[in-house]
Amino acid sequence: MDQHMEPVFAYIDAHSEEYIDLLKKFCSQPSVAAQHLGMVEMAKLVEDQVSLLGAKVQQVPTDGNPVVYGEIDGGKPWTLTFYNHYDVQPPEPLDEWITPPFEPDIRDGRIYARGAADNKGSFLSRWCAVDAYQKVYGDLPCNIKFITEGEEEIGSPNLDPFRIAHPDMVRTDGIVWEGGSKDINRGPLQITMGWKGLCYVELRCRAAKGDMHSMNAPIVPNAAWRLVWALRTIKDENDHITIDHFYDDIIPPTEEDMAYLEQLNYDGDRVRAANGIDHFINNLSGIALKEKLLYEPTANIAGIESGYTGEGSKTVIPSYAFCKIDFRLVQGQDADRVVQLLREHLDRRGFQDIEIIQHSGKNPYRADTKSRIVRAALRNAEKIYGMKPSIYRNGAGTTAMGSFCGPEGIDAVSFGIDHMESQIHAPNENIYLEDYINGIKMTAAVMYDFATMD
Ligand SMILES: [Zn+2]
Repeated sequence: MDQHMEPVFAYIDAHSEEYIDLLKKFCSQPSVAAQHLGMVEMAKLVEDQVSLLGAKVQQVPTDGNPVVYGEIDGGKPWTLTFYNHYDVQPPEPLDEWITPPFEPDIRDGRIYARGAADNKGSFLSRWCAVDAYQKVYGDLPCNIKFITEGEEEIGSPNLDPFRIAHPDMVRTDGIVWEGGSKDINRGPLQITMGWKGLCYVELRCRAAKGDMHSMNAPIVPNAAWRLVWALRTIKDENDHITIDHFYDDIIPPTEEDMAYLEQLNYDGDRVRAANGIDHFINNLSGIALKEKLLYEPTANIAGIESGYTGEGSKTVIPSYAFCKIDFRLVQGQDADRVVQLLREHLDRRGFQDIEIIQHSGKNPYRADTKSRIVRAALRNAEKIYGMKPSIYRNGAGTTAMGSFCGPEGIDAVSFGIDHMESQIHAPNENIYLEDYINGIKMTAAVMYDFATMD
């Protein structure tokens, strides 16, 4: 890429002020989906901005905020899509912001504003990359699509319907997904090519019509105990999940997967210190810690409630108990299948009275490491950032990347402009201006390699 991209990088450096002003403009427009604040104005801003690239742009209506879809069809052999979102998290608590959330402020080499990192900086890093390439070379090396939704921060409820209703817009040869951080503040760029799935359930137990005096405890079933006993069968003290056949479908990590773990710089001590954790589960460290974090499933009790939890004492038998559990799923697992396994497991142990409510299900997703978009991302990071990237075969969390790209068989990768202290979703959200400019260069180089490499 070097020779060909030099003029583009020079253009980006020469126009960095202009690109930073653009980020300020976008961050000055509130767009809080949860509060219905500024969404119409923000969608229009995105539509107009993408139009400036010569793209055909439309606001595609959904049951919620429109998806802004833009397309630059130059009749090229390959098509690259940029997924982003134009909504942001609510800025509250406002009094914790050093400068107001929608009045971008630059200090100490960073820009502070709601959306600077998540996701307006990310969106504009893609936009500026296309702009800079066009300004230097006129013609783009591949066809480009921009899919920018307005509901990511409220769970993307209309992204799946959009995907299903508009296969022509979704069709592509690779996606650069939103987001992406650094391992440490000025550390290596993270490149992520997949995520765990998520199966979220609620377990409910009703043992009587209403709470009763605890003098009846010798003979009346207690919902709290019922739930505790049921939960006791789901996981043991070694953190092994004991649901029958839970591990059967899992595809174990390959040699390649383990090689990706080796190069990952996960600072366990720092995580423990920052969170006041004495030790990790099973006292894990090193490669075993990384393997468990990234390649193993979870059964996490997210919340549990029953009976009297107020001040003082109340001698009562709880008639009702419930808990919420999230299972993070790994390669080979299926969210609906996990619910079915859990049901059969509880029934076999006499817990037919425990009701399972399935809240959401997302299957795990991984891009093909040999795909064009992954290869293009991997080979450019070191040159631009001056250090080897941290490559995540899959992240420990779950994103819409999986539910959007998985069913369509699309390869996707994410790398971005955030850092470890970007304060995403929190007061004083920020990014380094240097990361923003590097993110533009990275996107431009990836676009070119994606279009031209063998
Ligand atoms: Zn977010």
